[in-house]
Amino acid sequence: MTANTLPINELHKVDPVFGQISFDGHEQVVFCHDKDTGLKAIIGIHNTILGPALGGTRMWNYTNEWEALNDVLRLSRGMSFKSSISGLNLGGGKAVIIGDAKTQKNPELMRRFGEFVHSLSGKYYTAEDVGMETKDMDIVREVTPYVTGVSEAIGGSGNPSPITAYGVYMGMKAAAKYQFGTDNLNGKSVLVQGIGHVGEVLVEHLTNEGAIVTISDINEDRLHQVGSKYGAKIFTGDNLYASEVDIYAPCALGATINDDTIKMIKAKVIAGAANNQLANEVVHGQILKDKGILYAPDFLINAGGVINVYSELAKLSKAEVMQKTENIYNTSLDIFNLAETNDISTHHAALLIAQKRIDDKKLELQQK
Ligand code: NAD
Repeated sequence: MTANTLPINELHKVDPVFGQISFDGHEQVVFCHDKDTGLKAIIGIHNTILGPALGGTRMWNYTNEWEALNDVLRLSRGMSFKSSISGLNLGGGKAVIIGDAKTQKNPELMRRFGEFVHSLSGKYYTAEDVGMETKDMDIVREVTPYVTGVSEAIGGSGNPSPITAYGVYMGMKAAAKYQFGTDNLNGKSVLVQGIGHVGEVLVEHLTNEGAIVTISDINEDRLHQVGSKYGAKIFTGDNLYASEVDIYAPCALGATINDDTIKMIKAKVIAGAANNQLANEVVHGQILKDKGILYAPDFLINAGGVINVYSELAKLSKAEVMQKTENIYNTSLDIFNLAETNDISTHHAALLIAQKRIDDKKLELQQK
């Protein structure tokens, strides 16, 4: 159950695909290429025991293909656990498109990508992730039904990010309850790193409740826009991780909790939207525990988005989506208690619960 990663520059030292630590029993990895559109994509299907693999498509300008492969493997594995712990009948999958979403994304490329998704006959359903928007999924829908997160106008559930943000907010409140004795975030200082689709809505919930919010982003324009809209402070120092805050909310990309940053973190709670926040889930999960920092497992508290897109397949009402997302609060408290009882990290506790549901289903299928 380990998915720690080697530094990107050392990934070539192990076998290219099956040898990657993050490969971790993937059922299928599909490399997609199209000369005409320049599409280079990788689809990872980690596990389909609970249902079809569902997970978004990320478009990112990766430094090299190793980085892209490592990212898709880590992300699709995370989806297996996210859907499992959320009680969804879905497996785990994810896709990455290698390229700059701002300059290289176009309808032809998205359609071609959709055709590759279609060729998997429903074993993998896609949706949006970083670098993708609802309108991109609408284009994919032109060539395949195996896509979620499409516009409400064409029968979809729309942008999943606000529901994701709500789930993160619920997980953060549960963590505050456990760590500080109250889930009221009024007066609590929160650092939100990355104020994109999810981060901004999280800032809105937090400022509405009276939290003292500091924001950081590499996009200066957004910083000023979001800062003035919600009255959030803009981070100005040179060491974000050493910030004297109650709560750190990673909402940009993964692996921000790593060998370098973990020594500096002063927050007493970590609860954010980013996938794969722990660079090494075993080592860093344990260090956080030892330091007395309560970590709300990412795949547990950022599940609102997948719950929302799942509603398209399972025909859930908006009220059912909200109820399932709100339940992240209770599940988080259960996980924190389980971790304490068993003297294990919160990440480990969440993985155990998620893996158990998959194992039980596998047994049930074998006995049929
Ligand atoms: P987004 O692309 O809209 O926002 C990401 C933001 O992070 C951008 O504003 C970007 O400029 C900023 N950023 C990138 N690198 C940064 C850095 N080093 N420091 C500070 N800011 C940085 O993405 P999103 O949809 O808001 O998703 C955020 C995270 O949450 C991602 O890791 C994503 O995988 C995860 N997530 C999103 C959803 C969803 O519903 N959108 C669901 C589950 C998980």
